Amino acid sequence: MRKIYIPDTADTTADAVVIGGGVVGAATAYWLSKAGLDTVLVEAKDGLGELTTGASAECFRCQFTEPAIVPLARESVDFFENFPERIGLPGHEIHLHQQGYLFITDKEEMLPNLQAAIEEQHRLGVEGSEFLNRDEVRKRFPFLSPSVAGATFRNADGWLSVHELVQGYAKASTARFFVRTKVIDVLTDKGGVSGVKTDRGTISTRHVVNAAGPFAGVIGKMVGLDLPLEPVLRQKAFVESDKIPTEAPFTVNLVNGSYWRPEAGGALVGWVNPDEPASAPLENPVGDWDFPAMALDKVRELTPFWDSIIENLKANDISVSAGQYVYTPDQQPIIGPVTEVPGFHLNCGYWIGIMVSPAVGRLCADLVTGARENKDNPLRLSRYKEGAVDKGSSFLSGH
Ligand SMILES: Cc1cc2nc3c(=O)[nH]c(=O)nc-3n(C[C@H](O)[C@H](O)[C@H](O)COP(=O)(O)OP(=O)(O)OC[C@H]3O[C@@H](n4cnc5c(N)ncnc54)[C@H](O)[C@@H]3O)c2cc1C
Repeated sequence: MRKIYIPDTADTTADAVVIGGGVVGAATAYWLSKAGLDTVLVEAKDGLGELTTGASAECFRCQFTEPAIVPLARESVDFFENFPERIGLPGHEIHLHQQGYLFITDKEEMLPNLQAAIEEQHRLGVEGSEFLNRDEVRKRFPFLSPSVAGATFRNADGWLSVHELVQGYAKASTARFFVRTKVIDVLTDKGGVSGVKTDRGTISTRHVVNAAGPFAGVIGKMVGLDLPLEPVLRQKAFVESDKIPTEAPFTVNLVNGSYWRPEAGGALVGWVNPDEPASAPLENPVGDWDFPAMALDKVRELTPFWDSIIENLKANDISVSAGQYVYTPDQQPIIGPVTEVPGFHLNCGYWIGIMVSPAVGRLCADLVTGARENKDNPLRLSRYKEGAVDKGSSFLSGH
């Protein structure tokens, strides 16, 4: 039976409806259907993973110091490492590259922060992350500039194929995935959520999960919520080159916010511009041609092998893509039921949606089924009102 399709009509019933077919929605639909709920996912675009998810750099890490994120990251990386068995699809390859995540700095004064982050990670249960001093980091990664003063590194962090990941969630699920179907309203009655109105018909349901990525705020408004979500444009460039050290880790310059990693035929290069303003959610975010020049200028600072690549680059060697990070007040996602609207659940507010998708899909599904109570969920929406925010030390944030 086809699972991902354009329905002739969306007039149907379901135990649960997931709005949004990015990585977070697909993972949520997988876990909801695994819990036995008849689930429909509704996606406005032609297929799954076509908005933010398709724009990502596909990386994952356990190097977090936020107490609520560490368990999600650990569970997710374990899931990735055993993906075919965990998801029940023997042979389904998500192309893991565990070449590590390397956060570098040339500022001596940052080193105590790096050391403290590693200690905190170990305290929170992260295994295998290390602080590397100037000599160690250069010995392990000779392509770095001698000015690199130190780094944090975890060998088992890395990247994967997001397309295979999203398709894996869908393939392993018994949910129906309606594509080219747009949610235009969320219906309520005195019992709470009663349905989802789409441009192809109405799905009657008592549970809705808002996993609409940058559009989660728009969906929230349909039930009268003003969610604290800020979409911010983020871009990355693919640079074709045969001069990239192919065994290199995902390398982040903590001082200027740039990053790069090897990719088949070249490298992905990005920069998290701290001055990029929040914007409205974008249906078709586009990159600009100044971006690669700025990002390349930044990665060359601490990885100088880029100099010779940049000198010989032609316009055809570069392509740019864009999406939006969705920030919340504490830069952590919002997951779980909304008390004011019974049956309405959130799974949104991501800039780390790929890397935590297995665990946040499961957590959200557990909160829908009642397998977990929302009061024990540190990422509930009401944390802001309750003043129960634990930001942790998040100086590694943004990548
Ligand atoms: C340049 C860049 C690099 C990144 N790198 C990484 C990385 O290395 N690792 C990482 O973990 N994260 C990374 N991210 C972030 C990551 O891509 C996101 O956190 C993740 O994709 C969010 O997934 P999502 O499912 O919440 O949102 P989306 O992928 O945006 O999915 C939401 C879906 O909802 C649909 N939708 C919206 N409104 C409606 C409606 N009314 N009706 C029906 N459907 C609707 C949209 O069409 C969309 O497909 C990066 C992001 C960018 C932009």
